[in-house]
Amino acid sequence: MNYRVIDLRTPANQAIFRVQSAVCELFREALRRKDFVEIHTPKLIGGASEGGASVFKLDYMGQPACLAQSPQLYKQMAIEADMDRVFEIGPVFRAENSNTHRHLCEFTGLDMEMTIKEHYSEVLDVLNDLFLHMFDGLNERFKHELEVVNAQHPFEPLKYLNPTLRLTFPEGIKMLQDHGVEGVDPLGDLSTEQERVLGQLVKEKYDTDFYILHKYPLNARPFYTMPCPHDGDYTNSFDIFIRGEEIISGAQRIHDVELLSKRAVECGIEIETIQAYIDAFKYGALPHGGCGVGLERVVMLFLNLGNIRKTSMFPRDPRRLAP
Ligand code: ATP
Repeated sequence: MNYRVIDLRTPANQAIFRVQSAVCELFREALRRKDFVEIHTPKLIGGASEGGASVFKLDYMGQPACLAQSPQLYKQMAIEADMDRVFEIGPVFRAENSNTHRHLCEFTGLDMEMTIKEHYSEVLDVLNDLFLHMFDGLNERFKHELEVVNAQHPFEPLKYLNPTLRLTFPEGIKMLQDHGVEGVDPLGDLSTEQERVLGQLVKEKYDTDFYILHKYPLNARPFYTMPCPHDGDYTNSFDIFIRGEEIISGAQRIHDVELLSKRAVECGIEIETIQAYIDAFKYGALPHGGCGVGLERVVMLFLNLGNIRKTSMFPRDPRRLAP
C-alpha cells in the first residue's frame, strides 16, 4: 500500500478498479431508468448524521462541524422537496477505530431514497431490480475483467436468485437457533459472526450468496427508522448480504415530526443538533424509504477478495492516511 501507484499497475488491480467503475455505472443506469435523480449533498455538516461517536469533528470557520457519516438526512430533505426518487454516489466518513477486513474510515456510499406509495416492500422491489441488473451487467459486460481478477485471486462466481430471497429477521433468528448458535438476541442485532453463519445456512438451504433480511428489531436501528405498525418491537427495515457479509442497510424512515422527535430523544440525540432536519418534516412529508450501499464492500464481496483495502484505490483506515 505504501507503493500503491506501482501496485495498481498489475492486471488484477486494473481489472478490480474497472469492476468498481462498472458497479457505479450499473447503479446509475438502473436507477435512472426508474426515474431517480442524481443529487450531491454536503459533506461538511453541523451535527452527526448517524449519531454515536464515530464522527470526524472539525473547525468550520470558528464553529464546530463534522464530516458527514452518510447523506441520510439530506436525501430525505430532497424527498420532502418533492424530488420523489433520488440517489447519490459520494464519500462517507466514519471515525471508527475498526481495524477489520471490511471497515474503512472513508468509503464511497451508493445511496438511494424514494417515496413509498403503499408499503416499504416497494424499496425492496427497486433494490431487487437494481442488484440483478448490476450482477447480470458485471457477468455479461465485464467478463474479461472478472477472468483477469480470477487469474490472480480465484473466486467462485456469485450465486443469486431471481427474485432475490427475502427472509424476515425472526426467520433468520430461527435458522440460527435451530442450528444451535448460542447468544442470539431475538430483539437485538446480529453479530458479525452470526451474520456469517446465517449466510452459510442460507447458502446451504437456498443456494444463494445474495439475500435480504428484513424487519429488524427497533433496538438495532437508528432513530429515524419507521417502527413496524403491527409490532412495535420491530421496524420496517432491512439489511442485504453478499456471502454472509452486510453490504446494504436500509429502511422506511419516520415522516411524522412528533414520532421522529420522540425517537431521537429516546436514542439520546440532542434535538438542537438536528433541528433543521426535524423542521423539514413540518411542511408536509410523504412516506419514504431508502438505503446505503458500500461500494468497496460490494466489489470486495462480489470478487470475494477478503480485504476491503484491495477495492479502495487509496484506502483510509484507522492507521493509514497516506498515500
Ligand atoms: P457495519 O455494521 O458493517 O459496521 P453499519 O451498520 O455501520 O456497518 P451503515 O451505517 O448501515 O453500516 O452503512 C450502510 C453500508 O455502508 C453498509 O452496509 C456497508 O456496505 C457500508 N459501510 C458502513 N460502514 C463502513 C465502513 N466503515 N467501511 C466500509 N463500508 C462501510
